[in-house]
Amino acid sequence: MMGSTNIFDGTFTVDVEDYFQVSAFASVIKPDDWDHYECRVENSTRRILEIAARQSTRGTFFILGWVAERFPHLVQEIRSAGHEIGCHSHWHQLVYDLGPERFRADLIKSRDVLRDITGEPVHLYRAPSFSITRRSLWALDILIEEGFDTDSSIYPTRHDRYGIPGSPQSPHVIKTASGSIREFPGMTAIVTGMTVPVGGGGYLRLFPWWVTARLLKQVRSADRPLNVYLHPWEVDIDQPRIRASLKSRFRHYQNLSTMAPKLTSMLSQFRLTTMSTVLDHTLARKPDAQIPAAAFTS
Ligand SMILES: [Zn+2]
Repeated sequence: MMGSTNIFDGTFTVDVEDYFQVSAFASVIKPDDWDHYECRVENSTRRILEIAARQSTRGTFFILGWVAERFPHLVQEIRSAGHEIGCHSHWHQLVYDLGPERFRADLIKSRDVLRDITGEPVHLYRAPSFSITRRSLWALDILIEEGFDTDSSIYPTRHDRYGIPGSPQSPHVIKTASGSIREFPGMTAIVTGMTVPVGGGGYLRLFPWWVTARLLKQVRSADRPLNVYLHPWEVDIDQPRIRASLKSRFRHYQNLSTMAPKLTSMLSQFRLTTMSTVLDHTLARKPDAQIPAAAFTS
């Protein structure tokens, strides 16, 4: 084989947060109010765990520190099912809004909560709403300084909240003044000549399954590992409805009922696994995939 074939098509990831913590509702629900909402994340996460177990798929769960603090047994359940634990911040604030000092404090808080529950160091990170952009590349230095070796927070596309258009679409190593970090960028495909996000969150809900399946095959044919992501609230059809703008409600509620069947199809038709497994394999085949962080700013 000599590295010519991939054992896996890509990674299966879950950002573990509840329906009232998402960026789409951040303007109407503040973190101080979170305690007033009915938590549904345990049951919705278990639904994903059941589907993954039925398809014998392991993945990487980026867990919000706030959720881990309140539901430590959920973190243990995820871990004992064989999944990998990553960090999704503590308060789900956009990295570029926090600034370096508050970002570091939030990161340490969530990292330590997760570490104390699992008894293992946490070394993978995904920012809320992929909010490491040109404005917040300093976050990579802080991640390295705080013991993280893997990040999945950069989306090589244009979007109102996130994205570094033109940044690499395949996993690579970013070199900064503080050291190196492995980056598994958000997944994109080409649709009518445009680079668009695919296979995650709202895009997974919006596109019919056959469209997503075709785009995932396009990514695979380009020899790029898939980076699939979803959230527990996306399989929670009966979640309480939040009064927010039409755009936010569309982004959050559209096609919720399609998500569980799509997940089953995806995990049965594509070979997905933990992010570390995919990166170990992919980067070993491409030792030259190193990029200085300064390249992103130009
Ligand atoms: Zn999130």
